[in-house]
Amino acid sequence: MKKLKYLAILIALTFTVNTMGLFDFLKKTEDIEVQKTIGSHLEKVDYNKENWSSKDKTYWKKVMTPLQYNVTREDGTERAFTGRYWDEKRPGVYHCSACGHELFKSETKYKSGTGWPSFYDVVSKGNVKIEDDSRFGMKRTEVSCARCGAHLGHVFEDGPKPTGLRYCINSVSLIHSEDLMNKK
Ligand SMILES: [Zn+2]
Repeated sequence: MKKLKYLAILIALTFTVNTMGLFDFLKKTEDIEVQKTIGSHLEKVDYNKENWSSKDKTYWKKVMTPLQYNVTREDGTERAFTGRYWDEKRPGVYHCSACGHELFKSETKYKSGTGWPSFYDVVSKGNVKIEDDSRFGMKRTEVSCARCGAHLGHVFEDGPKPTGLRYCINSVSLIHSEDLMNKK
């Protein structure tokens, strides 16, 4: 009987701690671990020669983490301040995490305070596709990868000089050149 009482207290305590969000740090570590697997499929192929536009949902589901699939293939959005790159400062190039296409340079990355990686320019205009997005009752401009069609994020006109643009991009849609190299 005494054991049961202790068990009940333990359960109540665990529940309280959990609802207080004190286990969130554990979840964050787990998220980062999952993010480290992002782009692993690129090590097996010559990503600049692969026919990415022919890949179907089954393929993407197999090679992606659930969040990466949701963001890049279902136009989802990762939670602010949770991604791998929002506070990333290493020099290098950010590639598409789905097809390895070069998208943004670290020189154009800046601190926007939004919790998502933000850039004021792209590597080359032709590397991304820009489209009007009026879903969810908002008028926004969607940015996607020109090579594989992966949803990257949105672009806004409140960025710094010289372009005045803010490319607000999901971390899971990107892979830093150093991380891509580490997978080779
Ligand atoms: Zn791509």
